[in-house]
Amino acid sequence: MHRRIITPGALAAASLMLAIPASAASYSPGAPGIGDPYYPDYGNGGYDVSHYDLRLQYQPATDELAGTATILARTTQDLSSFDLDFLLDVSEVRVNGAKASFATSGQHELVVTPKAPLAKDTPITVVVRYSGVPSTKSAYGFNTWHRTPDGAVAADEPEAAWWWFPSNDHPLDKATYDVSVAVPDGTQAISNGTLQSTSSKLGWTRYNWRENKPQATYLATLAVGRFDITTSTSEGGVPVVNAYSKDLGDNDGAARASVERTGELVDWLSGYFGPYPFSSAGGYVPNTTTGYALETQTRVYYSPKQFANGSNTSVVVHELAHQWYGDSVSLKGWKDIWINEGFARYAQWLWSEHEGEGTTQQLADYVYASHPADDAFWTVKPGDPGADNQFDIAVYDRGALAVQALRNAVGDDAFFAILKGWPQTHAYGNASVADFQAYAEQVSGKSLSSLFDTWLFQPTKPAAPAARSASIAKTAAAPAQPRSWKKIEATNDVHGHGEQ
Ligand SMILES: [Zn+2]
Repeated sequence: MHRRIITPGALAAASLMLAIPASAASYSPGAPGIGDPYYPDYGNGGYDVSHYDLRLQYQPATDELAGTATILARTTQDLSSFDLDFLLDVSEVRVNGAKASFATSGQHELVVTPKAPLAKDTPITVVVRYSGVPSTKSAYGFNTWHRTPDGAVAADEPEAAWWWFPSNDHPLDKATYDVSVAVPDGTQAISNGTLQSTSSKLGWTRYNWRENKPQATYLATLAVGRFDITTSTSEGGVPVVNAYSKDLGDNDGAARASVERTGELVDWLSGYFGPYPFSSAGGYVPNTTTGYALETQTRVYYSPKQFANGSNTSVVVHELAHQWYGDSVSLKGWKDIWINEGFARYAQWLWSEHEGEGTTQQLADYVYASHPADDAFWTVKPGDPGADNQFDIAVYDRGALAVQALRNAVGDDAFFAILKGWPQTHAYGNASVADFQAYAEQVSGKSLSSLFDTWLFQPTKPAAPAARSASIAKTAAAPAQPRSWKKIEATNDVHGHGEQ
């Protein structure tokens, strides 16, 4: 902290205003957004979080969540105040031990004004005491907190954290987590990473979860309910923790027949993407009424509906692929969503080929041929789709088609080197579509500007000559629908917005 030395005489002579150190002129409020043009108010400016310690208690009967968040961060500018993104009711905030004043602002901002201004590049500890009923809170008219008959779930993209912990809510600010949740005996609390311990006292059981690798806020998850928890270790040595609501009814068998294959599929994906980046893998299936799945870090969220037609390994492959493409390597801005979805969808294509249900080339040819040039599908640019189209089907299907075009342009040796090298080059960090293009050019030794522009950035269907030169739909004959198509199509609502 910068402190100007003021002599007692000078202090006595000065008014309160003048007593403010001259350097205070450089102290300013942190921005209410981190600077993402898709979501200007998401995340915040002026600090960078390294760790969240959440010590909570949740009562399923009343949907009451209460507790304390201790946030370790470092300032990135001289700060007079800073924002957190949060919707629950705050009773106290302390910054470096001293009580801070706070006020709500905008849709989801909590503005914190510390007793003393904070100098740039210093560590800060922020303690937020809070409580509230998450299901009663909304921003922009929506609420992504999912109540279930026996508890609740926080899992959505991009908005999930506001309903359960104060944060710098943008993937650019990743942090490690300790999530400790007390729930009534007989109820379980599921979160990311490794279950360090549990303890019981006076009718409450506390679950202590730890995610020891950097995690984006939207990938932090919490599920409370009556779960059957299974543990195992994959053949490749990855610990697996899965959880199933005890109330899945007819979907129970198909859910287990899919999610229990997590260890096998993690090992299979490691063959393409390199070593699994986290200390734990798994998924959970709560009894929600939603339809989507989400790649919540190490512990994937699956809606029971994903298994309504029987087992579905394709969706498991999709969400596990995100552990490398999206979770370990996170996007820099939400416009870079292709880095996540193009590759998670392509992993489904690889799985289709592995299962003998259609090759990646057949799937690419089918996508290209099945959307005529005047189809709105082609107006969505996977490389920068816009906030409204962030999870449009084109980001997935046209996105995976672009991956196949890249593969055909650089050849299999370079392509699979890129696929495996990228997650390690940017492990636990953030990267953009432009970074990916630069990396692919570096590995392949080819200029790829025209290819990326054609397949990711033009709001039109790539013309036949461009397609032929990328070895897409080379013959005039209409390609048959690959056998895996319906199954992959059934995972199309893997990400949905929380409104329901
Ligand atoms: Zn996805």
